[in-house]
Amino acid sequence: MRIDVITLFPDFIAQCAAFGVTGRAGERGLVSLHAWNPRDYAEGNYRRVDDRPFGGGPGMVMLIDPLRAALAAARAADPTPARVIYLSPQGAPLTQARARELAARERLILLCGRYEGVDERLIEAEVDEELSIGDYVLSGGELAAAVVIDSVARLQEGALSDAESAEQDSFECGLLDCPHYTRPVEHELGRVPDVLLSGNHADIARWRRQEALGRTWQRRPDLLDETALSKADQRLLDE
Ligand code: SAM
Repeated sequence: MRIDVITLFPDFIAQCAAFGVTGRAGERGLVSLHAWNPRDYAEGNYRRVDDRPFGGGPGMVMLIDPLRAALAAARAADPTPARVIYLSPQGAPLTQARARELAARERLILLCGRYEGVDERLIEAEVDEELSIGDYVLSGGELAAAVVIDSVARLQEGALSDAESAEQDSFECGLLDCPHYTRPVEHELGRVPDVLLSGNHADIARWRRQEALGRTWQRRPDLLDETALSKADQRLLDE
């Protein structure tokens, strides 16, 4: 998949492709990342990308034209149609389900705002959806874009090794993940639960499911409201 990012800080985005699973997804050709700086498309000696808001008030607003030209350049770089996403605290929340849907697309363009945000007319004309990474305000869209990039890159087939498989991850089947343990079995901080050492795969699967259900019930009961539990799950939860 190809991801283009419209950003005043292209170096920030380059770092996403430098480490870990996203780095590996890049090396394996599963994700290609490209950054476009609106300042490169701004006019005048100062290459201005922002101006004061009409109506007064604090802060600056990103100008339409440099963003529009950067978007056009990004679109023209590849014939594959792209979904344009503006990272915004006012957008729909990014969820694991949405990350899966986006990961299945061939091409995304992520638009990062700065200052007070982007001129609304550009959003209306060019943006397909707005995405938020949470109910708080960041100073720019780059960190949010990095979150989107990571969440979709790790879902590309071949990005994760078996040991890092995404299937058991939190939210994948509407539950939080179960706890994990590794060596040593005995440690001053505690002992690994016996069932995980038993070699009995059915018992281990049952224990993991029960732990996942219990954790979800304790920490995120809202998820259980949206998840259709089987009778077997209901019994495990009641035990
Ligand atoms: N005035 C805007 C508002 O209150 O909705 C906030 C602007 S914020 C200081 C600057 C930029 O950071 C936004 O244009 C957006 O691209 C990004 N941003 C801030 N918080 C975000 C969030 N929770 N999710 C995604 N992007 C965010």
